[in-house]
Formats: sequence, structure tokens, C-alpha cells
Amino acid sequence: MTDQPDITFTRTLGVREDTEYFIIHCAATTKSMDIGANEIHKWHLARGWAGIGYHYVVRRNGIIEEGRPVDTVGAHCKGENSHSIGICMVGGSKKENGKMVTDNNFTEDQFHSLSFLIDHLDTLYENCEVRGHSFFNPNKDCPSFNVTNWVDDKIATDNGRVECLEIVYNKMKAYPDTSEVYTVLRKVLDEIGELK
Ligand SMILES: [Zn+2]
Repeated sequence: MTDQPDITFTRTLGVREDTEYFIIHCAATTKSMDIGANEIHKWHLARGWAGIGYHYVVRRNGIIEEGRPVDTVGAHCKGENSHSIGICMVGGSKKENGKMVTDNNFTEDQFHSLSFLIDHLDTLYENCEVRGHSFFNPNKDCPSFNVTNWVDDKIATDNGRVECLEIVYNKMKAYPDTSEVYTVLRKVLDEIGELK
């Protein structure tokens, strides 16, 4: 069992007026690093920020943790924060010859959760595009996988959506939380009559 995120911001966060993009990032951690929103919050505080810069963190086991409130301005992609939501996938790097390099080491659970999260955000913010961080900054490899290809695959296989929701729900169930994501998941599954 993981601790629930315990996040307090050191400054008041501005409310975001516009939402055009869901931007995917990675934590640039190795696959054995089981970190979440708490750890990233500490890293970002250490940089002098108000706290965690992402709105969501998808842990290695698929648990979705909330960072900045979804309607506030994030701190995750230079020049794009005022009109985007930042999602961080934990993982994305490996050590090779003593240095950290890009590695698409994300788990299947993480991709299920990411898929659910995008669908959920689509219901809150219309007509947004899903992009990887590297789309806005080609000098970066973040998030260590090809987001455009992933989105195309997701659209092509969306008839697996219910299965995907159930997988994520069963993960989140082990996490006794009253988070917004968990509540939404229960509601969606309840509506389609899949809640067991
Ligand atoms: Zn990034």
C-alpha cells in the first residue's frame, strides 16, 4: 500500500483560463523506482516552485495520483502552462554506462490508466489535443514514448474501453481514497452497469 499524496502548495496557484492540450511527461526514473506524487512534490519544492508541477501522476502500478488541482496553472512545459494539463508517467529512463538514457519501460497498467485519464479529461475539456512534452521542446525525449502513435492506437482499439476502465478501477479500489479520479471511475462504471 502506498501513502496517499500529502501535498500542500507554498503559494496560491493561479486558475487556468484556457485548456488546449493534455501534455504527457515522464519522471525520467528507472523502472525499479516506485515513486509518486509525494516524491515529485518534494523535488519541485526543492526547485523553489509552489509544489508539484503536474496535475496527475501515474504510478508504476497504474494508480493515478492528483497533483495540482486540475483547474490551476501547472509548471511542466515551458510556454504552454497557461493552457494545458500536465500528466506524468513514472519511469522512462534507465542507466546505461553510468548515465541515464531514455527507456520506454512503462507498465501496461500505466497505459490503461493513462487511457482512462485522457477519456475523463476529454469529458471536462472539449477538443484538446494529447501531446508529448517533446512536441513542444524537441530537445527533450520526454515522455520516452511516441505519444502520437499511442493516441492513434488508442483510438483504433477503443472498443476495449470498458475492460480498461475495470482494470483501472480494480487498481484504484485497493487505494482507499476519495480522490476525484476514483469517484469519476465509480460513477462511469456504475452508469454503464459494470460496477461489481
Ligand atoms: Zn516532460
